[in-house]
Amino acid sequence: MTFQSPYDGSRHTFTPESVMDLQVKLGSDIIMPLDHCAPGDSSRDVLRKAGDRTVEWLTQALTQFNKIGDPDKQALFGILQGGTHIDLRMEYLERSVELDLQGYAIGGISVGEDREEGEGVVNEVAPLLPSDKPRYLMGVGLPDQILEGIRAGIDMFDCVLPTRMARNGTLFTSRGRVNLRNAPYKTDEAPLDPECACPTCIRYSRAYLHHLYKAGEPGVLGLLSLHNLAYYRQLVNDARNAIISNNFDKWKSETESKWEEN
Ligand SMILES: [Zn+2]
Repeated sequence: MTFQSPYDGSRHTFTPESVMDLQVKLGSDIIMPLDHCAPGDSSRDVLRKAGDRTVEWLTQALTQFNKIGDPDKQALFGILQGGTHIDLRMEYLERSVELDLQGYAIGGISVGEDREEGEGVVNEVAPLLPSDKPRYLMGVGLPDQILEGIRAGIDMFDCVLPTRMARNGTLFTSRGRVNLRNAPYKTDEAPLDPECACPTCIRYSRAYLHHLYKAGEPGVLGLLSLHNLAYYRQLVNDARNAIISNNFDKWKSETESKWEEN
């Protein structure tokens, strides 16, 4: 697969093997193979080709990792594609689990498909992934999607949303979303989230952050990103504690009803 650099226009070719070489050299703790994520609203034919290619590349990646990698130091995960077609998802799950990888990721969610259908896939597929291996949901999501994923059995997430939305002035808090651009925050002396212990919430009021945002002060984007990341971290930490206390469903519904308060 060939990509053009957005910096200098130079062309770079990646193969399943060269991506392993790179990540082994980088010392990635978790190595993700090259995969083909087709848009969620693609035809079945396109999703089938992308999913087949992803499993083929995964097999090539594993062969290369077995040659040059050390599974005690780095973990190679498999990625499952298949869009919202459950039968394709099941086939790729079976073919990937046969390879006995160190963890499994559900890819191709939140890439343009209907949200409910995407959640349906996670609910069907996540519980069938090996329970003794980490389960990773790629590119998701909003706080409520994270909690839905955890309920389905997902252990790990990655997503640009907390920082991207912070840069747009949207903050996630224990009382729901705050859109800092809105006029009422101009005189609101409360912290962004009274339950948050992050440096932004400890030091600054909503009014001051609103002022910095409106003034185009670039430093505020870091302060807001810091809060959203702290909020997500606290959210998953609380989820973990609720699971340990066997109280997840109750904690989840209480957490979600507090989001309605703002
Ligand atoms: Zn905070």
